[in-house]
Amino acid sequence: MKASKFIISTLREAPNDAVISSHQLMMRAGLIRKLGNGLYSYMPMGLKAFRKVENIIREELDKAGMLEMKPTVIQPGEIWKESGRWEKMGPEMLKPQNRGGQDMVVSPTAEEAFTALVRDGLTSYKQLPFTLYQINTKYRDEIRPRYGVMRGREFTMMDAYSFDKDQKDLDASYENAAAAYRKIFKRMGLETISVKADTGAMGGSGSEEFMVESEVGDDTLILCPECKYAANVEKASCKDDVALDKDGKPQAKTDKAVEEIPTPDVKTIDDLSEFLKTTPQSFIKTLIYRVENPGIDIKGNFVAVCIRGDLDVNEAKLCALLKASSVELAEEADVIKITDAPVGFAGPVKLTKAPVIADNTVMNMHDAVTGGLKKDVHFIHVEPGRDFTPFMTADVRIVKPGDICPECGGTFYSKKGNELGHIFKLGEKYTKSMNVTYLDVNGKLTTPIMGCYGIGVDRTLASIIEAHHDDNGIKWTMSTAPFQVAVVPVMYKEKMKEVADKIYEELLASGVDVLLDDRDERPGVKFKDADLIGYPIRIVVGDKNLPNVELKVRSAENPDLVPAEEAAKKAVQIIKDELERLNA
Ligand SMILES: [Zn+2]
Repeated sequence: MKASKFIISTLREAPNDAVISSHQLMMRAGLIRKLGNGLYSYMPMGLKAFRKVENIIREELDKAGMLEMKPTVIQPGEIWKESGRWEKMGPEMLKPQNRGGQDMVVSPTAEEAFTALVRDGLTSYKQLPFTLYQINTKYRDEIRPRYGVMRGREFTMMDAYSFDKDQKDLDASYENAAAAYRKIFKRMGLETISVKADTGAMGGSGSEEFMVESEVGDDTLILCPECKYAANVEKASCKDDVALDKDGKPQAKTDKAVEEIPTPDVKTIDDLSEFLKTTPQSFIKTLIYRVENPGIDIKGNFVAVCIRGDLDVNEAKLCALLKASSVELAEEADVIKITDAPVGFAGPVKLTKAPVIADNTVMNMHDAVTGGLKKDVHFIHVEPGRDFTPFMTADVRIVKPGDICPECGGTFYSKKGNELGHIFKLGEKYTKSMNVTYLDVNGKLTTPIMGCYGIGVDRTLASIIEAHHDDNGIKWTMSTAPFQVAVVPVMYKEKMKEVADKIYEELLASGVDVLLDDRDERPGVKFKDADLIGYPIRIVVGDKNLPNVELKVRSAENPDLVPAEEAAKKAVQIIKDELERLNA
């Protein structure tokens, strides 16, 4: 491609709404333009990189035996009503009506569509297993789209759906997808962190998220440096530690009875530590939570959650424990009703108006302090198990960096992450609600089970830029660069033109994706553009170096001087070596 025939429109400054590197660089390099809020269009240069990312995904899924198809982006609302997600999806799902007044959906995901399409042709167990996929446009009406294509409203997703006859086959389909994902991200030059959800004991459901480290990540990951433990903070658990007394020794059991002590003007745990000359680890902190739609019987809508004074309650874990739709701290009036005291004096001893949920750490505590269910009163010498019996004991703490890995004893650290892909065992969720059946080997009508697998294509592209850039611009990996080589004559005339043309032709003949910068621009402008757009190799043809030319690898400090007639061959070798490394 000759630059004069292409669109290269770089910007010196990124627009104000671009706050992360990939968004800034994609705008500055002219890869994307904004058409509306959360609506980005790929310009020819951006689309070239996009297609490379897309094709790596496609190649690996095809190799894994998955079958690509192309359903429509607009779907009938009817199938969403069948699955029960018409209401559940909420305002992120765009639901236009057609001219006949029928409800339609602009696909935010496609479990329903694939399930409905498979239902039409599936009759026999002999057709199973198979995995279908698409790489197609999706739309989610994000309330606050941001970070460019990282979180746009319209985006492209690869979504795959496996159909299997039993759990064993589903496990195989799932592993097959996981292996393909690992190859995909490696080929692109992305290091992913694998976050596995707990595998249910029965039915063997499971999921795995493929995350990349990102300062603007939506998720906080808890990681162990010693083993492969990686978990979302919402689910992370740690080794239970021994509660220590103020001298740093394990807390000792007391024979003393609970005693009521006055604690005037003491509001916080820190105040109380100071007042009682002890540490927050000696307190059982009690928080009253309001529980929406609890899935287990808690005789009402409130629970008292007890946790060691130096720890915090993980509301996601609490919500999961109670199988509730949501949990939130109770309003002041409700706290007063339940504890007969102002906020700050709740405690599990003698509490009758709400069930006590104790974090695991609490049951290891001794001679503890709790709120006294009266204004300005606390209890001391509290022994969990003796002075109160929890309704439930569970892990509801927020795990933090510094906590201990339950697998190997390593010390956790934390990183922000962004999800690029996930794989998930769905089971019968859609095939049952949408009534998909086949005849099994005994001629019995049976429901197939599904897995679903997704990769955000735009987000993956942006993550490559996040991981590979410097102050001057993007540093594309060889497998994803819009052009692998830019041939840049200092001036496109006379001998320089002749040599540049020759190198360009040789590279084209070798199948290299090459751009010849034949624009009538100052050399400085061409060099800046080359660095900003981020071609992995730049070959500069200048009067003063001929018969040599400068060959510079984008990530290298300095250029190499090579004879002009060897330049193309050298570039081809660098490309080959680098692709081999990524594909290995
Ligand atoms: Zn570990």
